[in-house]
Amino acid sequence: MGVENINLPPFCNKCGMMIKIHSVFTYCSKCEIFRYKHKKLLLSKNPPVVSPRGVALAALRIEKINFPHEDWSKYENFSEAFTNDKKCIPNHLNELKSPYLLYEYLDAITEIMLSVPEKESYDWNNSMINSRTAILSEIKSCIYGNTGKKLEFDPFQEGKYLNEFKLIDLRIRSFLESMNSYVEDLYCCFECNAIGSKKILLNNNRTIFDKCSDCY
Ligand SMILES: [Zn+2]
Ligand SMILES: [Zn+2]
Repeated sequence: MGVENINLPPFCNKCGMMIKIHSVFTYCSKCEIFRYKHKKLLLSKNPPVVSPRGVALAALRIEKINFPHEDWSKYENFSEAFTNDKKCIPNHLNELKSPYLLYEYLDAITEIMLSVPEKESYDWNNSMINSRTAILSEIKSCIYGNTGKKLEFDPFQEGKYLNEFKLIDLRIRSFLESMNSYVEDLYCCFECNAIGSKKILLNNNRTIFDKCSDCY
C-alpha cells in the first residue's frame, strides 16, 4: 500500500463498519458501496476497467448468441455466468461479494456497447488495438470452445457463427472507441489482459513494463 492510503479512515461513514481499503478502491461489503479512489470513475456508469471475457459475454448477450459452447452449459444465463466466472471480471473486483454490484457493472458494460460512439472516425492507438485482439480471441473461445489446435482458424473467414462474429466485432470497436474517450488513458495489460484506465491499472509508480495492479 502507498502512503496515501494510511490516512484514509478505515470505517464506512454510513454504517461505521470496517471497510476494505485497496490500492485503487474502497469497499463496504455491508452497505454494498464500492468507490474507486479516482472519484470520477464509477463501476455502474462507464466502468473504468473491464476484462476481455466480461466484454465478450456482454457482446454475446446483446447478439443473443446463447452459449453455443458446452463450456458454458453450467450457467442458466449471462448474468449468472458473469457473476460466477472469475475471468469475467477484473481481478480487483473479485473482492466484491455483491451480485447486485456486479449486475450493475454488467449492465453498464452492455449499455456502452449499445450506444453509438460520438466521433465518426477514430484514431486507434495501440492500447485499443491490443484490447480488440484480446476481446476477439476471448469471443472466439466463448463461441467455439477452447480446445487448442482445432481452433486455428480465422473466425472472420469461416465458422458457424461467421456473420455474428462480424457483427460482434463492430460492437467491440464501438465499445473501445467509447471507452477510450471516457477513460482518457486506455491501457491493456500485456500480462493479464485487463483493459482500462491507466490511473487504476498503472497506479502510482508502475511503468508500462511492470505488471498492472490487476495482475496476481
Ligand atoms: Zn457501510
Ligand atoms: Zn495485468
